[in-house]
Amino acid sequence: MRIASFLLVVISVAAFQNAPAPSATHLESEAFLAAQMHAPPPLARADAARVDDLLRQMTVKEKVGQMTQLEIGMITDGQDANLVINPQKLQKAIVEYGVGSILNVKDTALTPAKWHELISAIQQAAAGTRLKIPVIYGIDTIHGANYVAGATLFPQPLGMAATWDPELMKETSEIAARETRAVGIPWNFSPVLDIGRQPLWPRLYETFGEDPYLARVMGAATIRGYQGDNLAAPTAVAATLKHYVGYSFPTSGHDRTPALIPERTMREYFLPSFATGVRAGALSVMVNSSEVNGIPGHVNKHLLTDVLRGELGFDGVVVSDWEDIKKLVSTHHSSATEKDATRDAILAGIDMSMVPSDYSFSDLLLQLANEGAVPMSRIDDAVRRILTMKARVGLFASSATPAAGTADIGSAASRAVARRAAQESIVLEKNTSALLPLRAGARVLVTGPTADSLPSLDNGWTITWQGDRPQLYPADRHTIRAALSARLGERAAYVPGAAFDKDLDVAGAAAAAAQVDAVVLCLGEMSYAETPGNIDDLSLPPAQLRLAEAVLAAGKPVVLVMVEGRPRIINTIADRAAAIVVALNPGLEGADAIADVLFGDVNPSGRLPLTYPRAPNALLTYDHKAFEEQDTTFGLKAFHPQFEFGSGLSYTTFEYSSLVASPSAPTFDTGIDTSVVVRNTGARAGTEVVQLFVADRVASVTPPVKRLRRFVRVDLAAGDAKTIRFHLTRDDFSFIGPGNTPIVEPGAFTLLVGNLTYDLSVK
Ligand code: BGC
Repeated sequence: MRIASFLLVVISVAAFQNAPAPSATHLESEAFLAAQMHAPPPLARADAARVDDLLRQMTVKEKVGQMTQLEIGMITDGQDANLVINPQKLQKAIVEYGVGSILNVKDTALTPAKWHELISAIQQAAAGTRLKIPVIYGIDTIHGANYVAGATLFPQPLGMAATWDPELMKETSEIAARETRAVGIPWNFSPVLDIGRQPLWPRLYETFGEDPYLARVMGAATIRGYQGDNLAAPTAVAATLKHYVGYSFPTSGHDRTPALIPERTMREYFLPSFATGVRAGALSVMVNSSEVNGIPGHVNKHLLTDVLRGELGFDGVVVSDWEDIKKLVSTHHSSATEKDATRDAILAGIDMSMVPSDYSFSDLLLQLANEGAVPMSRIDDAVRRILTMKARVGLFASSATPAAGTADIGSAASRAVARRAAQESIVLEKNTSALLPLRAGARVLVTGPTADSLPSLDNGWTITWQGDRPQLYPADRHTIRAALSARLGERAAYVPGAAFDKDLDVAGAAAAAAQVDAVVLCLGEMSYAETPGNIDDLSLPPAQLRLAEAVLAAGKPVVLVMVEGRPRIINTIADRAAAIVVALNPGLEGADAIADVLFGDVNPSGRLPLTYPRAPNALLTYDHKAFEEQDTTFGLKAFHPQFEFGSGLSYTTFEYSSLVASPSAPTFDTGIDTSVVVRNTGARAGTEVVQLFVADRVASVTPPVKRLRRFVRVDLAAGDAKTIRFHLTRDDFSFIGPGNTPIVEPGAFTLLVGNLTYDLSVK
């Protein structure tokens, strides 16, 4: 019943002046989220019988084989285009060891034909084993099918979060799933549901940003987009929630380093996205490679079994991350031998080991099982889950891959969706004197290290792991330089100016700046993935700042375009840039999307999914505590970010009015109906992202200043207004109390929407 009241949320109350906007009506976030909750249907009777039957017949060795995942190099020779199956290796892996799963690439995206050849050979080998159990192939499709040559590549998840458009997130995930499954891969290691609250972390761009609610909504959209209603369909892939849990919050900011997360904080900030992912029906979970509070993720029985299985009710497959059982010995020093590590990880709740480059796991687990050190019940439990996942994705019905070339991989229609996603992801943070949109006749200098870089637009997980081989990118895709030249022809000059961390021709850039009407200064980051992307400091490298100073000194208006996967500090130049655009890895169509925004073909609607820090050590999130905001005695202000979470400008203006809530004496049981009117007060159509925050005024655990509770994109023609309605329930007022469980405390709350606030008391 409550769900029904969610559903009718955006009601147009007025259409003035212009013809009605050609706009879609979007579901508000909570209605969308509720519609994504979806338990996988029970196994078909034949599949359930098959799983039972296999379990009865399997030897211990066959069971251990199913729990083993190897990388593609274990069955192939060569790499890239010369990758070929090695029949002896294949025989050893699939027939002798009976491994259940293969993963990854070596080292570049493969053509659909190559994938078809490899996966057919693997399944043929599996068909020749005693029990003919198909192998499940797994891959990292992170922002589109990035390991399938020619696939559609979308913004990275952080950029998708900047769209605040879960329907679009779902649509892009459907395309990613289709282009992955088309080559015979039914298992995807995505979405990353780690919460991005440590901006140094080199995997920030794989997250949906700093807010748990935004991550829950976008995560659920992703999972449902991947899995659809029929996982066995040739368009679906199984989703993996990763990296369970607390991986994203390393104290050092470096990848795979320790986090300290009190249980209350874990439950308030880091667990909810995984809980939602489980309820959205994800088939698998991948484990945090690092440690939380001194306990490595891979042996944390409390989190893996008590919480994940017990509390969250997850019944899918728990897969380790890369080599992580070995790392319990070599990195964590929490086990003396690999055999101990194997026992501890399996007993903690790991079902499958991403070994991935030798047979140690299979050998050791077989010994442990035979010695009784790992009970058969635990092994049977793991194998049942793995076989069930194989059944759910349809491998028992048909393990064959679709014929190569049949899917419309990278079709024009899919690329159009990617272009729209990139457009929606661009965040305009500053636009002095309406410098943007640029005039069509403007003479422009394009300069800076991200101006002519596809890797910067795409970041890691693009064709290769590090995404750093531009020669492998599709030749017809624009860099920012090319996109601007395509529009301006000779009126666009390009001078590189600086590389990422080294001066090139700074003086040349400054001289060229003096000759144009405006400078498009493209700074930011080169591509990186995981540990190679570690940095100690969010500051921009000095060479980029020197270039910025030089072109600013030329006196022409500067449009600063930041192309980056994490917020690099710009406080010394931001005040003098006339306009600032933040492009969080908008993907292969990203440069054209940036040009669309710079020239006003698209009215920007992206909003930051994170707090953009002003200084490298000022890393508070938007939901900090009130006394971090302002010290009234000494006047110190700790929270003064460069740009706020949820911020972003448009080429039109929006005005909020009439924020009200009912009933007048609400209780946590009645819930609260709120409404607010948002009006486009400017001269052109635009999209506002309406965000509702709730602030708890007094609480037994010091309350954050506000927390995001609802949002919706609202398309408005010039002059139009809409009334936006949200229904709040008990959960929206609850927090994790001193006893580490969710509680509500009656009292004063404030609703915040746009520049409006509404105080209420809830019992
Ligand atoms: C990453 C995972 C990824 C796995 C397989 C690991 O290094 O942490 O996110 O899914 O590799 O490629």
